[in-house]
Amino acid sequence: MARYTESVAKLINELVKLPGIGEKTAQRLTFFLLKMPVEDVRRLAKALIDLKEKIGYCSECGNLTEKELCNICSDPRRDRKVICVVEEPNDLLAIEKTGGYKGVYHVLMGSLSPLEGVGPDDIQIKSLLNRIQRESRNEIILATNPNVEGEATAMYISRLLKPLGIKITRIAHGIPVGGDLEYADEVTMARALEGRREI
Ligand SMILES: [Zn+2]
Repeated sequence: MARYTESVAKLINELVKLPGIGEKTAQRLTFFLLKMPVEDVRRLAKALIDLKEKIGYCSECGNLTEKELCNICSDPRRDRKVICVVEEPNDLLAIEKTGGYKGVYHVLMGSLSPLEGVGPDDIQIKSLLNRIQRESRNEIILATNPNVEGEATAMYISRLLKPLGIKITRIAHGIPVGGDLEYADEVTMARALEGRREI
């Protein structure tokens, strides 16, 4: 990157490390930042630092938080008897957005992937088991992604929890609302049929 001045090259080098950002986009962002008022750039830099320095993981469920417990675990109105297991904090947010779930969560921080060398000890499965053994629960909802890794993870956890005698459920997968049966792939169609319910 000899054609850039040192500071420009440095920033481009950092930006290309982000997902979805190639050199062209990094270059465009860098020149955009150059034109921004210095206060705005300072605010952005501070937001980045705060992100790393202030945000940690909830000691109970693994959700993002700036305190010991996240705002869901510390909310007395949430039903602690029901735990919804998700892969990432983003998935938790997606479920929260529906406003329909009143239980608590457990964030695994990934999914089982033997091909990438991710085993049960590399994600938060042990802490889930600890939570269930420490306090009685009525239902564990497995809301991992409907892909190979997510299914394998759900299967692994359900086998692990079965002997404990708790109700274990898996979220339904199927045709998206507004979707068209004609365009659904075979796996989605098969899942939609499997997950059918009486109306
Ligand atoms: Zn929490």
